[in-house]
Amino acid sequence: MNQTLLSLRALSKQFDGKSVLDSLDLDIYDGEFLTLLGPSGCGKTTLLRLMAGFEHPDKGSITLAGDDLTNTAPEHRPLNTVFQNYALFPHMSVFDNVAYGLKMEKRPKEEIRQRVDEALAMVQLEEYAGRKPHQLSGGQQQRVAIARAVVKRPKVLLLDEPLSALDYKLRRTMQVELKRLQRELGITFIFVTHDQEEALSMSDRVVVLKEGVIQQLGTPREVYERPANLFTARFVGETNFFPGRVDGADGEDTISVNVLGLKRSFRKPDFQVAEGQELHVLLRPEDIRVLAPESTDGVPGKVVERNYKGSTLDSVIHLEDGTEVLASEFFDEDDPAFDYRLGEPVRVSWVDGWEWLLPQENG
Ligand code: ATP
Repeated sequence: MNQTLLSLRALSKQFDGKSVLDSLDLDIYDGEFLTLLGPSGCGKTTLLRLMAGFEHPDKGSITLAGDDLTNTAPEHRPLNTVFQNYALFPHMSVFDNVAYGLKMEKRPKEEIRQRVDEALAMVQLEEYAGRKPHQLSGGQQQRVAIARAVVKRPKVLLLDEPLSALDYKLRRTMQVELKRLQRELGITFIFVTHDQEEALSMSDRVVVLKEGVIQQLGTPREVYERPANLFTARFVGETNFFPGRVDGADGEDTISVNVLGLKRSFRKPDFQVAEGQELHVLLRPEDIRVLAPESTDGVPGKVVERNYKGSTLDSVIHLEDGTEVLASEFFDEDDPAFDYRLGEPVRVSWVDGWEWLLPQENG
């Protein structure tokens, strides 16, 4: 399994003398849903355009199943792109929009009809074949764009923020649909988004990009639970960063760390640590536990914000040394901790073993 389909090697691209991608290597597996995630301007679209062939790299190569595509024109690459703005032909019916690429290839009429019907069925738009794009909702237009892209049976589908124009609810629905479609078609999807929740919920693997450099490549769980650096930890989800200091090695697999005035034993991280070294202790809001003030565990603090979110209760707690702690707990009205109101004293602890350590970074 996990056979590489698309290989990017040492890809570099500059615009106006400014480096956008710098010697980027990436292997994309056959049939996977891979997401490029990063803040605005980090080079996601440029990377997608290089794969599609709309841009040419300054250096490096792109191969697909062993074939070098670097100098292949976009229309001759076995890839297709779905853009954010759909780019449908406004004067053509839904059917003709989807049929367009096959007509250009001069496919037999009967084959075109069959394949378009199939593609429209896949996105559940069979009954809309005769409509014009302006007679469809935004979500339906996006589905036409997807049908138009998959009807040509590309090996790879490139999707550039295809859901960002849709409202929250429709976006959620389309996320599930896209994922289902990708599973059914078995096509490799390369999906661009700056929405970390979308990336985590849809992808087999996520590439976190910053200024044209890959920060981490991993499954959603790896990226969220074991971030490779501070950037990824901050960009993917909310995190508490507590300063820690290594107090010594406890045993073979554990180290002892002073954090928030407590001495705790942690799993040894995969980077070198020395006694006295400062590091970051990362705890996600859902790792934090808010306890009664009489508890002997944790450290004392005061609740300064509480937001009821339906399934969770989110709080901000100020510790006595001024540290701010974000906590997110499943709502359980039988738990006395949920009775605390703003300004009340509590104690803050966390679930043992859920912390993640990262080294200090320069700059
Ligand atoms: P966004 O999420 O905002 O779309 P992005 O991560 O997709 O951002 P890119 O569109 O790849 O980022 O842009 C990366 C950088 O390259 C930006 O600084 C952008 O201004 C620059 N850039 C992209 N295309 C061109 C171009 N054709 N000419 C000059 N600069 C460009």
